[in-house]
Amino acid sequence: MTVTLTDAHQAWELRFTSPALVHAWLTSVRDSELAPASVKIIQSFLAWRQGRIAEALDLIGQAEALLGEEPSLWRGRMLSMSAVLVYITGDISRSVETLQEQLALGRLLKDTELQALALNDMGVIAGWTEAAGAHTLYSRALELIGEPEMDGSPAMTAMKGLIAANIAGLYQQKGHYDLAAPLIDLAESLFQRAHSLILWPWCVNIQVAHAMHEGHPEQARLILDQAMDLLGRSPEGMGESLSLLQYTAARLEMEAGQPQESLAWLNRMREGEPLREEAQMRVLDLEASIQAQLGRHEEAYMTTRALLEAIWKRCHQERSVLVSRLELSELTEQAQRQVEEAQQVMGELQEQLKEVQSVGKHYRTLSVTDALTGLGNRRQFDEDLRMLKEGNGLLMIDIDHFKRVNDALGHLLGDRVIRQVAARIEAGLPEGGRTYRYGGEEFAVLLRGDGWGDLFSVAEQVRHAVSWSAGEDLPAVTVSVGGALIGSVVPGSVLEEADRALYEAKRAGRNRTCVADPSGQ
Ligand code: GH3
Ligand code: MG
Ligand code: MG
Repeated sequence: MTVTLTDAHQAWELRFTSPALVHAWLTSVRDSELAPASVKIIQSFLAWRQGRIAEALDLIGQAEALLGEEPSLWRGRMLSMSAVLVYITGDISRSVETLQEQLALGRLLKDTELQALALNDMGVIAGWTEAAGAHTLYSRALELIGEPEMDGSPAMTAMKGLIAANIAGLYQQKGHYDLAAPLIDLAESLFQRAHSLILWPWCVNIQVAHAMHEGHPEQARLILDQAMDLLGRSPEGMGESLSLLQYTAARLEMEAGQPQESLAWLNRMREGEPLREEAQMRVLDLEASIQAQLGRHEEAYMTTRALLEAIWKRCHQERSVLVSRLELSELTEQAQRQVEEAQQVMGELQEQLKEVQSVGKHYRTLSVTDALTGLGNRRQFDEDLRMLKEGNGLLMIDIDHFKRVNDALGHLLGDRVIRQVAARIEAGLPEGGRTYRYGGEEFAVLLRGDGWGDLFSVAEQVRHAVSWSAGEDLPAVTVSVGGALIGSVVPGSVLEEADRALYEAKRAGRNRTCVADPSGQ
């Protein structure tokens, strides 16, 4: 039967029961450009199981960066892996902190597995110094899981087995093999039910220790033989578990006074899959004792040197991992700060830009507005004049004998007259027209769009709107108007033609309109 995994959740679920399947699944997703945090976490799990601790730590760091602080199942799983790995590097307090965070997250998400796993791992740490505390933690983990149903998830079943085996380990440490035995039986049956061969050697080791303690090395050998036979036939690539049992066998023979047999087991270990660092160090340690016991002191010395070297290498590695993790978190914080600062600066810049834009807009308006009348000024007129198209028209309007107004009534009143004329042109303007103060007492009207065929009538309409008789505060005012229509005249000469028409109106007696006629009439 070929089974393939479809997603990361399934891979996580089966990590303790079908590592080969998980490995195959990872190979199928590894090449995908986007490696989500879940894949990193599972890769980290496998790297850990294969003894590549630095790589596992690196992967979990990447996953952490990808996941962020958001509470999620995968963040919980990341914490769980992180706690184990940090523990291996010797940072116990950080490992405990991480497990506490995992436990809190498990509660928040109401995820039993996360909580139970955190309690179990806390128990493992506590077990070194405080058996009673460890026992409490394991018991709480067991309570959470309850009785896994026959069709319950393999991960939960396996975990319950693991906790039972851990409690058994506590009893064994204290020499209570009688209390450990039933728990080991339970763990064994749970591991079987979950098809979790990876965890099973844990049970075997305790059973072997029990048999040795009772003084039955033969029985211990039998248990080991059977277990190794079973593992050797497993399709799941149990090299790691097998070498664990081979090491137990080597210890057993050493204890049984058979150093040569013990050495043979160690050599068999070396023939199998490459050992993980801790296993290598344990092997060197045991090998040195064997060599010493066999009287091969020079070899024992060399082995001890090799062990020392391995320890140094490990120390160096742990330190560099620790430093790189520190740097990573430092970098992340620094990057975060920089982003925040950049955002603030951006915000300020945007505010300033808005201000500059509105000031600019203000100045732009000022620069094209006539101060006295509020009309577009000469600059605006020149700009707009260039946009005139076929069918558009231009009127030039000049107040008649304005000099006399100034001379008789003063410039201030002259200004009022100019303003009044501006207002009246605006008021009488047809749709599509725009008025400008061309300069002095002269105005221009640009007529956009078309429909100005009868330009003369339009100009007359404007002229009548502007002229008024003498009133209480203002003298009588008349204007002369000159007009030109693009189409009748070419665009480039429209100003000139309108001006010429205006001059014509003045010359003909003022208070009248003339429109440029290309035929020259
Ligand atoms: P015409 O009918 O030939 O146009 O005679 P005019 O007196 O109106 O023409 P002229 O160009 O000789 O005089 C224009 C006057 O307009 C001269 C100037 O003092 C006055 N003027 C120009 N700009 C202003 C202004 O902003 N305010 C006032 N009060 N007078 C101005
Ligand atoms: Mg004038
Ligand atoms: Mg004038």
